[in-house]
Amino acid sequence: MSAQTDSGTSRLASTPWHILGAGSMGSLWATRLARAGYDVRLILRDEARLHAYKTAQGLTLVEGNKATLWPIAAQTLDTAEPIIRLLVACKAYDAEHAVARIAHRLSPDAQLILLQNGLGSQQAVAALVPQARCLFASSTEGAFREGDWRVVFAGQGHNWLGDPQQGAAPSWLDELQHSGISHEWSPNILSRLWRKLALNCAINPLTVLHQCRNGGLKAHAHTVDALCSELGALLEICAQPEAAANLSTEVHRVIDATANNYASMYQDVAQRRRTEISYLTGYACQAAQRSGLDTPHLHAIHQQLTAHLKHLGLPSH
Ligand code: NAP
Repeated sequence: MSAQTDSGTSRLASTPWHILGAGSMGSLWATRLARAGYDVRLILRDEARLHAYKTAQGLTLVEGNKATLWPIAAQTLDTAEPIIRLLVACKAYDAEHAVARIAHRLSPDAQLILLQNGLGSQQAVAALVPQARCLFASSTEGAFREGDWRVVFAGQGHNWLGDPQQGAAPSWLDELQHSGISHEWSPNILSRLWRKLALNCAINPLTVLHQCRNGGLKAHAHTVDALCSELGALLEICAQPEAAANLSTEVHRVIDATANNYASMYQDVAQRRRTEISYLTGYACQAAQRSGLDTPHLHAIHQQLTAHLKHLGLPSH
């Protein structure tokens, strides 16, 4: 089987890329892989979503002022086709349930790439499909849905992929290279995910509670420092010393460098979307509790955020 690339050449199809969740990140990956000529198949939640997708005739990728339609194949969770390579691009709170629906379709040598932010959902998915190889990813790329089936590539970034079991890099990383998906193999992906979680925990909830851009946290430096100190101790006790190094310095650097930006959690709340709180401060608080570490500021922020979300009528888990 062959597929056309946008340069008019054709590329022999290798293993199909099944993509679970055609939201912002799923669409960003799907369209770039399809553009490079790879065989991509979207997995949508049900017949209604599949019908809506077919009506749109494909996914549209918007980059700068250029919008391109990619008529990528799609199917529902209930399709029988086996899956060898799966990009899980749901939110953290949907990932386990969505993977459970397709677990029986995974071939014995299946590989999953888990794109979720925070921690906790990756481990839950890996436990659900012990026969599969689960690779974890951390992304600084930015994308949002301008409408259904239309994704805007809003921020150039980078993807780190790694194996929490310390296995070797997979050969299909070449396909990401050919697709222009900026990436590298990370020998310690858990450390990277913990570091990002700590940065998120120190910044995101406070921007929601103080209703401010990242730069607004300069007025709350004491609270930020207290959180960084507890998060650093947590990373150490969770055997992630690399992730703990100079945490406070980096948090303040990020606050300065992104002073004009609204954090992703702030945007979720502003747009009345469910947050990934359980996989950020929720996960950190649970890890602290399990380790017997006292983290009063972290717990207070988590409690305040939970109460705030409840007050707004948004899910608080
Ligand atoms: P999103 O736009 O909300 O997309 C999630 C997609 O998952 C939706 O299309 C949703 O389907 C689909 N989905 C949920 N349950 C499903 C199921 N059971 N079966 C099939 N599809 C299902 O989310 P996102 O922004 O791409 O985020 C995905 C992950 O990447 C998150 O953990 C996020 O934190 C992380 N991330 C995002 C960005 C970014 O810039 N967006 C950057 C870095 C990391 P429907 O369309 O039918 O609702």
